[in-house]
Amino acid sequence: MQIHALMTGTVSLKHAFLFPDSGPRRQLGLFLPGPFSEPMPIHCWAVEHEGRLLLIDSGESAAVRDIAFAHFHVTREQELPGAFAAAGLALDDVSEVVLTHHHGDHVDGLVHVQAPVLINDVEQRHAASVSSRAMRRLLRQPLPRGFAPQTFTLDDRPFGAFARSPPLSDDGRIVAVPTPGHTPGHISVICIDDSGRHVMLAGDATDTLEQLHALRADAVGPDPKVHVQTLERILAHCAQHPTVYLPSHDIQSAARLADATIVSAAANQPARHSPDPHPAAAVAVS
Ligand SMILES: [Zn+2]
Ligand SMILES: [Zn+2]
Repeated sequence: MQIHALMTGTVSLKHAFLFPDSGPRRQLGLFLPGPFSEPMPIHCWAVEHEGRLLLIDSGESAAVRDIAFAHFHVTREQELPGAFAAAGLALDDVSEVVLTHHHGDHVDGLVHVQAPVLINDVEQRHAASVSSRAMRRLLRQPLPRGFAPQTFTLDDRPFGAFARSPPLSDDGRIVAVPTPGHTPGHISVICIDDSGRHVMLAGDATDTLEQLHALRADAVGPDPKVHVQTLERILAHCAQHPTVYLPSHDIQSAARLADATIVSAAANQPARHSPDPHPAAAVAVS
């Protein structure tokens, strides 16, 4: 198995998005003036396995408009075709696309892909809801032309700390797991690499590893409690399996993939590097 970090430009996020107040100001702060972060990557991921090439999310496009809490920096050259060329991959080889959720910085690159596109059925229903459609109109963030992914259902097969998990590969080494919070039907994709590590392509489950350890819900999710429960579950999974945790916008995600950095399973503790050739033994956390 080979996992490639692709990058389709960057986004600067308002502090009120990354570090929201609690209570009624949680979402209000998104629309008030305030400072922005340094540019953070807009990653998507290509996974070569069993003769297939899975694309997890499709990145952003240069046509994206800034919104009140996110400023995008994407050139035509940084869109999916350029990102594929930089990785030495061919877009025509993509066998299918799996979406973590329906936000533009994860789906706008679909215009470059011919392969079938899969999305969790809960997320697709959410994307089609009146409130989501109104928000997209308000923020001038339309779904890409022809957006019509096939839906899949999370079944009752447990996987690690997750109660449900449809496999995405015949050998079960690539699975989708539910990580609701940022959106109601958000999923993450876990790939068991050749060393047995669980490489978690986490989409926007959090924006950073720091947010995971802080157990902090973001400002846009509809229910912060659901979001925090998901973060606790991800950490519980990290306690069971050596996990490389890769949010789409974490400035450290590409380095953690390259270095196979295993995350600590404890809340509010910094990540650590694991040079141990037997990573399963390196995460003996009870
Ligand atoms: Zn998102
Ligand atoms: Zn995103």
